[in-house]
Amino acid sequence: MDKNMLSEYAKLMVKVGANVQKGQKVRLYAEVDQYELATLVAKECYNAGASYVEMFWSCGAVERLHYENASVETLGTVLSWEEERQKQMVKDLPARIFIESADPDELSGIPADVISTVGRMRSKVLKKYRDEIDGKHQWLIVAAASPKWAKKVFTDDDSNTAVEKLWNAIFSCVYLDGNKNWEQVWKQHTDTMREKADWLNSKRFKSLRYKSSNGTDFTVQLIPGAKWCGAADINRVNGAAYVPNMPTEEVFTMPDYRKAEGKVVSSRPLSYRGNLIKDFSLTFHEGKVVDFDAREGYDALKQLLDTDEGSKSLGEVALVPYASPISEMGILFYNTLFDENASCHLALGECYPTTVQDGEKMNEE
Ligand code: ZN
Repeated sequence: MDKNMLSEYAKLMVKVGANVQKGQKVRLYAEVDQYELATLVAKECYNAGASYVEMFWSCGAVERLHYENASVETLGTVLSWEEERQKQMVKDLPARIFIESADPDELSGIPADVISTVGRMRSKVLKKYRDEIDGKHQWLIVAAASPKWAKKVFTDDDSNTAVEKLWNAIFSCVYLDGNKNWEQVWKQHTDTMREKADWLNSKRFKSLRYKSSNGTDFTVQLIPGAKWCGAADINRVNGAAYVPNMPTEEVFTMPDYRKAEGKVVSSRPLSYRGNLIKDFSLTFHEGKVVDFDAREGYDALKQLLDTDEGSKSLGEVALVPYASPISEMGILFYNTLFDENASCHLALGECYPTTVQDGEKMNEE
C-alpha cells in the first residue's frame, strides 16, 4: 500500500470528514489490523489541534469468539465502566471517527436473533447517550481494506492483490486518487449535494413515485415537514461542518412510515450480516411490507423484516445519481457504506431526526 495515499486519506478524514477542531477530544475506533492507518489518523488529529485522541480497538476474530462462547446475558450486559465512558462522552462531546474494515462474514453462522437480542439489550442502556450527543458532535464513518474483506470482494485474487485493489477502489470512491486538490473536490461535491437537497426542499414534494422495467411500481409519501439532507452536516454546538460518511453520494429524507404502497424490485444485491440477498422484492401496503421474495437469501431477508415492530416500515428514502464513482465501478463491496451509495435506496426501520423539521427537538415518541 502506498504510504503516501494512506496519509492523504488520514488527512481527508480529519480535515474534511470529522473536521477535528482545536482543543477538541477525539474518539478513534479501529480494528487491530488497521493500526498503521489509525496511527496516521491520530497524528493528523493532533496536527489539527486535538487535545486528546482516545483509541477504541476491536478485533473481529475475538468478537466472533465472544458470540461462540459467551452467553447472551453476558454479551448484552453493559458494564458499569462502559457506561461511565459514555457519560464522559456526553460531557466531552468528542469528534468520533470509526474506521470500518470488518470481514463481511465475521459473524456468519451466528443466529441472527442472538445478534439482535444482544444489540437490543445493549441499546437499551446505551441509546440515551447516543441520543444525547446527536447533532452536538462531529462523527465520521470511513472504511479500510482488510485482507478478509478484500478477499470477499475480489475472490479470484491472492490476498495482497485483493487488498491493493480494495484500497484503490476505496480511494476512488472518496475522490482521492489522482486528486491532489481533494479538499477542493470535496467542497464542490458537498456543495452540489446541498444544492440538490435545497432544490428538493424548495419543491416540497409530497410523495415519490418509483417505476422501472424490472417490475418496480411503488409510491411512498413523505412525512409532513420532511427535510432533504445532503452529505454534509453541522455540529450545532461548535458550528463545525463535517461529512459523516465517506464515501457519500446520497440525498435522503424521511418517509411517512404509514404510507407506502406497491412493489419495489432490487436492482442490486444486499449484503446483510454475512448473507447476500439477491434479486429480491418487497411489497408494501399501508406502509408495511406485506409480501416479499428473494431468489437468494430469502431467510436472511425474512429475519431482517422480523427484527422488531418497526422493521417492516421505512425510515429513510435516498436518491443517488446514476453516475458516481461507486456506481460506475460496478463492484459489490459487501459493505453498506459503499453499496448504498451505488443506487437509490430505501432503508427499513429507524429514521433520522435530522430529516424532519425540528426533529432534534422532538421526543422519541
Ligand atoms: Zn442512505
